[in-house]
Amino acid sequence: MVLVDLGTGALVAEPEEPATVLEPSADHDALATAAGGNAGPVAILFPTFADGRGFSLARILRDRLGFAGEIRAVGSLIPDQSQFLLRSGFDTAEIADRDAAETWRKTLSLIGRSYQPSARNPLPLRWNASSEAAVELGRALAATDDLIERIKLTAEHIEGRVAFSTSAGLEDQVILQAIAKSGVVKAGADFDIFTLDTGRLFPEVLETIELSELRYRIRIRLVSPDAREVEELVSRDGVFGFRQSIDNRKSCCEIRKVRPLNRALEGAQGWIAGLRREQSQARADVPMAEWDAERGLIKINPLADWSDERLNDYIDANGVVVNPLHAQGFVSIGCAPCTRAIEPGEDPRAGRWWWESEDRKECGLHVAGSETSAESVAQGEKAA
Ligand code: SF4
Repeated sequence: MVLVDLGTGALVAEPEEPATVLEPSADHDALATAAGGNAGPVAILFPTFADGRGFSLARILRDRLGFAGEIRAVGSLIPDQSQFLLRSGFDTAEIADRDAAETWRKTLSLIGRSYQPSARNPLPLRWNASSEAAVELGRALAATDDLIERIKLTAEHIEGRVAFSTSAGLEDQVILQAIAKSGVVKAGADFDIFTLDTGRLFPEVLETIELSELRYRIRIRLVSPDAREVEELVSRDGVFGFRQSIDNRKSCCEIRKVRPLNRALEGAQGWIAGLRREQSQARADVPMAEWDAERGLIKINPLADWSDERLNDYIDANGVVVNPLHAQGFVSIGCAPCTRAIEPGEDPRAGRWWWESEDRKECGLHVAGSETSAESVAQGEKAA
């Protein structure tokens, strides 16, 4: 016999104390006796799946009799009932064997809220961020070709805050418009839309953000680097110190982008990015959704399967607000001192940190083995 802690999912092989067993037909006296004195755990029997009287008994023990001890659910139960058991006052469920208990534990790790609507909890089923939830969400996203539907699915599936770090690049502008059109923010979804204001952005980027806010009636907050860290960096390396060495440049990006991004992502359950498989060979396998174990969140790439052609057609057809610098030859747009326009046929990345050699630039751009490095995603460095 194994006890499953309904709150934590922890498994207890052998309960320390035997419980007083209550039949579902137990009357008030039996309940009062079980709850009185120094009574130990109380086990409430569910003889069949359809017999829900045990839920009421637990409620009476808690609410009317003030019982504060452990209440166990025993009998014909399935893991899907775990949240309702918790809400009714149960602490643990007694499971016949370890395999079945393991199924309960996994279910508890996935379901963070009851999917049985009630006056107290009218919310639909949502999933806690986990690797399994990322797989589920990825499947759901891949099943539809509609971007707005993908945004809605993200809002529906993810419990908690969903971060969207926009650089105001083309992909991010498409996603931003889709978020606005989807209505999820107005409907109450916790979407945190922000731009990393490095202090070195082009005015056109800020103007694009403002125009987008006005056009889409959506707020984009600016996340700033730590002022003291920037002061110390500039005091040490100079105003354009990032041009003097790779290390200096990495330090600048770390302080102005990576750390603010990490701060903004703290506590988020989801993180929307604009990565596309067609952007580069390295991104050829970018999934729709993936589990970021380091940050404990699900990364979502709703445009993962979009081609360049589809992206541009969508922008034209939907009147997406775009940064005017794109029309001047700027492709991948980051900070002003580190971005230049490129000639037709040039590698899109040629316009970024052009004073560095390509191989060294690669080292500086990407965290080893990570396509979704904080820096590259944060500032929309979509081209490899
Ligand atoms: S892109 Fe340039 S200015 Fe911006 S954070 Fe990196 S090194 Fe600093």
